[in-house]
Order: sequence, then structure tokens, then C-alpha cells
Amino acid sequence: NNKKPPVVIIGTGLAGYNLAREFRKHDSETPLLLITSDDGRSYSKPMLSTGFAMNKSADALGMTVAGPMAIQLNAEIRTHTQVTRLDPAHRRVWIGNEPVPYRDLVIAWGAQTIRVPVAGDAQDAVFPVNDLLDYGRFREAAHGKRRILILGAGLIGCEFANDLLHGGYEVELVAPCEQIMPSLLPPEPAAAVQRGLESLGARFHLGPVLERLERQGDVLQARLSNGQRIDCDLVVSAVGLRPRIELAAAAGLAVNRGIEVDRMLRTSAEHVYALGDCAEVDGLNLFYVMPLMSGVRALGKTLAGQPTPVTYGPMPITVKTPICPLVVSPPAAESEGSWSVEGQGSDLRALFRSSDGTLLGYALTGAAVQERLALNKQLPPVLA
Ligand code: FAD
Repeated sequence: NNKKPPVVIIGTGLAGYNLAREFRKHDSETPLLLITSDDGRSYSKPMLSTGFAMNKSADALGMTVAGPMAIQLNAEIRTHTQVTRLDPAHRRVWIGNEPVPYRDLVIAWGAQTIRVPVAGDAQDAVFPVNDLLDYGRFREAAHGKRRILILGAGLIGCEFANDLLHGGYEVELVAPCEQIMPSLLPPEPAAAVQRGLESLGARFHLGPVLERLERQGDVLQARLSNGQRIDCDLVVSAVGLRPRIELAAAAGLAVNRGIEVDRMLRTSAEHVYALGDCAEVDGLNLFYVMPLMSGVRALGKTLAGQPTPVTYGPMPITVKTPICPLVVSPPAAESEGSWSVEGQGSDLRALFRSSDGTLLGYALTGAAVQERLALNKQLPPVLA
């Protein structure tokens, strides 16, 4: 048949759906196909670490199911459908044995949770929570339980800790680092957030890793690498994410940490773009909504015939630890400079300046978060 091949987007997360929306603002005609291995529900992923405090089930967090999304977007959406191979030389992707041609392809298939190997007979009690389906499974497992062990004390681990504590759970965190959020924060604000979480009852075990998880009757016993034993009812894994790059690499696309793209979000293959958690944009692979939305706005136009490069302004991150509010704008990797910290108690202002005094990053906790707007004006753009 001589139907025009569609623009194909792989993934219906915030990247895939927002791009489809943006594209439709500029082009209402070109056929659009979204393919997703999940159920295609539209939801805001950042809400997953606020669901217990708000007492929201997975169904309550899901906003729109795939059918109405397809109508809204004037698109076809194939759910529970896994793309198994990219074939850029023939401008098609494969779903098992079925080839699907495209005019342009956008890879927005996100990142997967890193799984740490744990010995013992209770690995099925370790829950990663990186999408709505994971969240549904975790919530179901947590129902009627009391003690939760969180692996990882990064941003997501700490957000889950705050949320689960508000939800009435007892929470312990295990992470092989000296402080919480080591890649984002200098020690003082990290300690302020940790104290906040401890004031709600959180117990931190920083340094060891979980080595073994065993069932002992109804209880799980966790054995840490420092010999300590912790009883718990289930385990949340928040040890980090890895961009999905395997299929892209197998198809010959340039990959590094993520799928490499230029400022136009073009991969190394013609007519193939990447966006969101899976993409490494001009060397930056950021797992946040703000950069993804900048990409959405640029690529929506590019695909509609107005080539538009992506730019990132300052990219502050609001961490959802309401017991000790935190906003952080980490300095770019390899920035030269140093942190200085002012303030008292949990109200801290940590500023990272170069030797000539230029502000390159900040971390604000407690009442100091109010200063973020003024500081944002002084920060350099992340991608000019
Ligand atoms: P995803 O949402 O992971 O979407 C990937 C899609 O691809 C899915 O639809 C999946 O089914 C599909 N897929 C994968 N492989 C295939 C395949 N082979 N074939 C077909 N489909 C496939 N960021 C912030 O900025 N602020 C926050 O407060 C914040 N809070 C967060 C809290 C939590 C608990 C988590 C986990 C993340 C948070 N983030 C936050 C990060 C942010 O949510 C993500 O950066 C963003 O949602 C990523 O969207 P995405 O569309 O790139 O990927």
C-alpha cells in the first residue's frame, strides 16, 4: 500500500507522550505511531515517590489510559509491544518478525533500574520502582507490611524514604557511600537532609551493601557486608538507572553512557533521534524532566520541518524530601571550584564557585530553598 510511513516513537513515558503532543501542535497530519512495552498509561513518573504520603494507588496515579491518549494525539498506540530490533539501513524497526517502517524514528525508551546481585532465597522480595507497573506491584506487596529496607541513598532512595515514613512505614536505608546523595551534594546539606529523615524515624546504614536476603518465616532477614542483620518485610531497590542502549548499539548507533545525540537530538543514524533518559545529549545524560522537556520542544519542531537545536538553561532539581526541602543545581562534571556553606541547622546555603567567583552550582536546604530563583539567574546554562 502507498500509505505514508509514520513518525514512530518508541516509548510512552514523559518523553514519548510529551513529544507526540508537541509534534501535533505543529503537524496534525503526518501519521504517528507510538509503541510501548508497557500498558501505555500516561502518568507523571515523579509522582511515584509521593504516592504513599498522598495514599495514591498505581491506578490513582495513572492519568489517562492508552485509548483516549490515541484519540487526543490522533495517533496509533501499540501497547504491550516490545521493539526487538532497530534497522536504520532500511528505515524500519522490528517487533519480533514484524517490520514497521518509519519516516522518522524517535527512541524514547528510557533507562532501566540497575539490579544488584543479592544472595539468599528472597530475591523476589526486592522491588525496583521505575515505572507505574513496578509501583503497582510494590504497593500491593507493601500492603499490610511495616518495615521496609531501601537499597540506595541517592535522590530516589531518599524520596522514597520520606514518602514511606509519611505513609506509616518503618524505614532503613543501606548504601555503600559515606553520605546520602553523594553525586549531587556536598556533605553539609546531605547531613541536613539525613537528619530530617532520621527525625521521622529513618535509620541509615552508610558504608555496607546488602549481601544476603533470607526468608525466616514471615520475616526477611537482610545481612549486610559489615555483618549487621536487619529484619524487614520487603526491600525497595533504588540503586540507580542505566540508559537502555543495547538495541541501539546492536544496530550500529553510536552509544556511550546513553545513546549519543547532537543538539538536534539526531543519533548517528539518519532519520533516528533519541530523547529522555536513554539519550546522551552532547555528552550529557540527565535523568530529569526539565532537560527532557527542552528536548521535546526542540524535537517537536524539528520533526515538523523546522530544525531546532536543544538548549538547556540552568537545571535545578527539587528533591521531594519535604521533611527537609532540598533544591540542588549540581556543578557540571569536572567544574573547577569549591563549595562554601553558610546557614544554621537545616537551613543551609551551599554555593559552588569558580576561583574567579562565578556561581557554578548550589544546594539549598530548609528555608534557604527560597533563594533558588535569585540564584538561578546567576547560573550559567547547562547547554548554551
Ligand atoms: P520512561 O518513563 O522510562 O519511559 C520509557 C518508555 O519506553 C516506557 O513506555 C517503556 O514501556 C518503553 N520501552 C522501553 N523499552 C522498550 C522497547 N524495547 N520497546 C517498546 N517500548 C519500550 N525527575 C525530575 O525532574 N523531578 C523529579 O521529581 C523526579 N522524580 C522521580 C521519582 C522517581 C521515583 C523516578 C523513578 C524518577 C523521577 N524523576 C524525576 C526522573 C524522571 O521521572 C525521568 O527522567 C523521566 O520520567 C524519564 O522519562 P522517559 O520517557 O525518558 O522514560
